[in-house]
Amino acid sequence: MEGRRNLEVFTENKDDKEQQEAAKDVKSSLKRGYHHFFAESEDFREFIKNKEEKKICRDAILAAKLALEELKLKKFADHIEIEPDNIHILSKEDFERIGSPDSGGFHRLENTYAPVNDNILKFIHVITHELSHAISYYALNLEKEKGENSHTGLKYNDFALISKRSGLDFTKENGELIFQGLAEATTELLADRIRQQFVKLNKNLPMRKKKDLVESHVYYPQILIVNHITGSYSWLNNAEIKIPGVTKILAEMGTEPEDAVEASKKLGFKDLTEYLEAERGKQGEG
Ligand SMILES: [Zn+2]
Repeated sequence: MEGRRNLEVFTENKDDKEQQEAAKDVKSSLKRGYHHFFAESEDFREFIKNKEEKKICRDAILAAKLALEELKLKKFADHIEIEPDNIHILSKEDFERIGSPDSGGFHRLENTYAPVNDNILKFIHVITHELSHAISYYALNLEKEKGENSHTGLKYNDFALISKRSGLDFTKENGELIFQGLAEATTELLADRIRQQFVKLNKNLPMRKKKDLVESHVYYPQILIVNHITGSYSWLNNAEIKIPGVTKILAEMGTEPEDAVEASKKLGFKDLTEYLEAERGKQGEG
């Protein structure tokens, strides 16, 4: 398995074999399951899900795929390798110890974590937000552990996995995290779409609950700022949620075939770039 398509792992030292191996392991984290490593090193166990929670997890993942398809990101959706087992329920104590006490949930690579919750709507709300994070673009820097230096709390053996990019947020050279509010707003905007699909999949949910689910938002003020700037739900804004930078790249794309190849390269569309280059070759011959 080549690992997650939306995850890039950078290393400090390209000649260090150990680093390269670790980067490979992280990149194909699904092979072993980052969760098991995380649970062992943090010493916690997850709750076994009941029937209702299992169904919610299945539906939430399906809803995430449907939401991406709706955003014309089907190819991306096909590569989501998140399964219900990647959604974990922790005791309140473990959740507060490992995650941040005032957040509803957190995520680690392809895994999402929520505290055990009697309020099933709250649970759906949290996991849809965290799923939205988990399917977003990630870029990590693999660095030899130098103590408490990772704000993401991600570790792999002797390495700290420093977040460079997670969705729209960005860590500067000096460690300062920027665009965090913007990243949360766009994450929640995607989560909003996931919840709408979830509601469609669960038609028998009482009307009031449906309303509660799709009408409440975390980071609502940040969302309002984003909406204010962008004029809300245009396809480009939604595309930007999934492919940060897409707007700038498309804005700069000219009308020549070469310009499309260039944009495709910048967008990281490997298959499409190859196709466009082959097409251009054919035209040259004809
Ligand atoms: Zn978040």
